[in-house]
Amino acid sequence: MKVAIIGGGGREHSLALKIFESKLLTELYVIPGNPGTQKIAKNISLKSDDVEGIVKFCTEQNIDLVIIGPEKPLTLGLADELLKKGIKVFGPTKSAARIEGEKSFAKKLMMEYNIPTANFKVFNKDNYDDALTYLKKVSYPIVIKADGIASGKGVIIPETYEDAKEAVKECFVNLSFGKAGEKIVIEEFMSGQEASVFAITDGDDFVLLPAAQDHKRIHDGDTGKNTGGMGAYAPTPFVNESDYDFIAEKIVKPTLKALSDKNSKFVGCLYCGLMMTSEGPKVVEFNCRFGDPETQVVLPLLEGDFLELLNSSANGKINKDAISVAENKSSVCVVIASNGYPDKVKKGIEIFGIEDAEKLDNINVIHAGTKIKDEKLITDGGRVLGIVATIKKNDLKLCKETAYNAISKIQFDGMQYRKDIADKAIKNNL
Ligand code: AMP
Repeated sequence: MKVAIIGGGGREHSLALKIFESKLLTELYVIPGNPGTQKIAKNISLKSDDVEGIVKFCTEQNIDLVIIGPEKPLTLGLADELLKKGIKVFGPTKSAARIEGEKSFAKKLMMEYNIPTANFKVFNKDNYDDALTYLKKVSYPIVIKADGIASGKGVIIPETYEDAKEAVKECFVNLSFGKAGEKIVIEEFMSGQEASVFAITDGDDFVLLPAAQDHKRIHDGDTGKNTGGMGAYAPTPFVNESDYDFIAEKIVKPTLKALSDKNSKFVGCLYCGLMMTSEGPKVVEFNCRFGDPETQVVLPLLEGDFLELLNSSANGKINKDAISVAENKSSVCVVIASNGYPDKVKKGIEIFGIEDAEKLDNINVIHAGTKIKDEKLITDGGRVLGIVATIKKNDLKLCKETAYNAISKIQFDGMQYRKDIADKAIKNNL
């Protein structure tokens, strides 16, 4: 099969590594890819949101399957345009991608189908005063979310009415989140451990992959600003067997049915961001694609043919036996970011030591924001690398040590990373 992966981050490097193992594969393209994918695939220098360019390339090259990584091309309708040309796609259509692109759409759908989530209300700029009146009545902390996609930064959790009032002003008056914040969702605060579960689906049937835990804040102890994700580990002990059954029956199944009922059948990876509350798992958010950095730790736990799983889903009949979950494996990913991330960063700084880290057992160095210039590897973004340790043992403590040992080989000016990835699970097991 000729396969094209869309995207150029850590998630896409991870997907490429997994797809590369498949016996079905003949040629692999990554659009645009990065210096990591370049070692195993052909990078094509088109932007991942260049819908026209990608459709043209895939048509000319007779690509058999396109796997779309990031949310932007999905919400722009790349899958729809490829399908119109008869090209198979793993990834939802524009209308199904609303499950991520419009939070109010997702929340209303959950309410209609009784899918457990935080209670909420939706307001737009025209009912600014109603939003403030509502905020006077609620208990704190409360959660205020921009309706549209705001790169993981559109969530504010005010502790007081005064702060909430400021947050609403940021959205409606200062337009800090642009168009994404012209409509907001105000929802109840949930407490518990967070977990991410991917459902791979043909739109009707699905398989759940092992649950991971992301680390969204920039600093240790979950402090500082929200980021795209500073590290992850899997499997997480905070999701047990009965939780998986609950997630399958009460969350994924009704969500897929709801999308089908609304003529928006979802083919691809439905990412369930969950809060494991004392009342059971509840949905924090849905994403319409694989999560980053969770993908980096979930895929190494799978055995079998991952390409067959995705291809059969895109064909309309998922082959659930294509993969199985390896017993007793653990995986930890620590993200190394540039100085200043998640705010503006300086790019173009030379990176040293990757070959030494890669020589170590059980280590994969995943490229995210890197670039090659004048034969040197340099930084090219906020999140630069993901150091992934995977061991054949159910031992997150050892797995964490393996990852940090590899990091000690890598060096670039201003590099920053969290030192506590997987600690919540490790402490839980002690
Ligand atoms: P989201 O972009 O919706 O995933 O939200 C980003 C982060 O904000 C989540 O990973 C949670 O840590 C936090 N968050 C979002 N919604 C809630 C909620 N209702 N209760 C508590 N924390 C939340």
